[in-house]
Amino acid sequence: MLCGICGKKVKTKKTILNLFDPEIHHICEMCYMMYPLSPKSEMIPIEEAMIFHNSMIRGDSHVSGIAYMSFIKPYLKHYLSKYRDAIFLYLDDFKDISFLTLDSLKLGNIYLLTLYENIEEGEKL
Ligand SMILES: [Zn+2]
Repeated sequence: MLCGICGKKVKTKKTILNLFDPEIHHICEMCYMMYPLSPKSEMIPIEEAMIFHNSMIRGDSHVSGIAYMSFIKPYLKHYLSKYRDAIFLYLDDFKDISFLTLDSLKLGNIYLLTLYENIEEGEKL
């Protein structure tokens, strides 16, 4: 499997415990050290519901979202176990949509997962 950022082959250290495990990550260790996963969660009240916002990477770095797709699974499990009645939205950026837009759609509770934590820029639109 190739790294989604640098394009090099992703190699994981093989031991007897993980010898036959499939490669699931799309990011190599060097790129992960440069752009580490730093999850953040917050609850944002809107007009008649709540937005459960989770972001995976701090700041507004421009790395490929494909590199982090293996990290979405824990968020999906969390959504299915605790927020099953909400709507699941995944966005790489929060620049093109704002809380006012989500609020005006009247979707109810929303479980929002974003790759970048650039929520402040999205609010300005
Ligand atoms: Zn890489």
